[in-house]
Amino acid sequence: MSELPFSPRQVVEEIVSLVRVAAEEKGLVLLEDVADNIPVAISGDDGRVRQVLINLMGNAIKFTHQGHVSVRLIPHHQDPEALLFSVTDTGIGIAPEHVDQIFEHFTQADSSITRRYGGTGLGLAISHRLVELMGGRIWVESRLGQGSTFFFTLPSRPVELPPPLVAPLEQANEATTKTLRILVAEDSPDNELRLFASLADAKTWLD
Ligand code: ADP
Repeated sequence: MSELPFSPRQVVEEIVSLVRVAAEEKGLVLLEDVADNIPVAISGDDGRVRQVLINLMGNAIKFTHQGHVSVRLIPHHQDPEALLFSVTDTGIGIAPEHVDQIFEHFTQADSSITRRYGGTGLGLAISHRLVELMGGRIWVESRLGQGSTFFFTLPSRPVELPPPLVAPLEQANEATTKTLRILVAEDSPDNELRLFASLADAKTWLD
């Protein structure tokens, strides 16, 4: 788990642009709300935060047939030293008897959902573990047939972003002309999103 300065706003924006096509293909409205008063940069592991967000956003899109999926980032109202992320959807929701186990390994709400939507039942278990390792908490509030909101908190340790490296003009021009084209052949939209998340992670290195 790395401890490096990153912009939480940028991470949210990246994930939203990553899942936009998947949401639009389903006719869903994708909304994003990042509060003005969150720190410009915090110290942490942006790759792991991306992983959790892509999983929650991927699920929200997968389990919603109409309406909207929205992501929000605000300072935690009860804890000034934490940030609160939330992903809300107007999808199928989760029955009260399943909510408690949803973060356990290989748990899916029920077998008819597995048959219809596929998946592994691992995404939320991994997200749960990652959020705890980062010192936060994850939970869900849901109403069957109406939708769900997944919340997670992260400690907010404001730091300064390092100034961007300024390359000499020639190098910069050369860098902008290098375009990578990657063909993804994947029959599961779920896996496709996860792959894009890994590529977004790799992009940080390629840049
Ligand atoms: P997977 O999606 O691969 O089955 P997850 O661990 O990500 O595994 O999710 C576990 C289960 O939680 C899902 O199978 C589904 O039943 C339920 N679930 C997760 N997110 C949502 C959501 N946004 N709306 C309704 N049900 C959800």
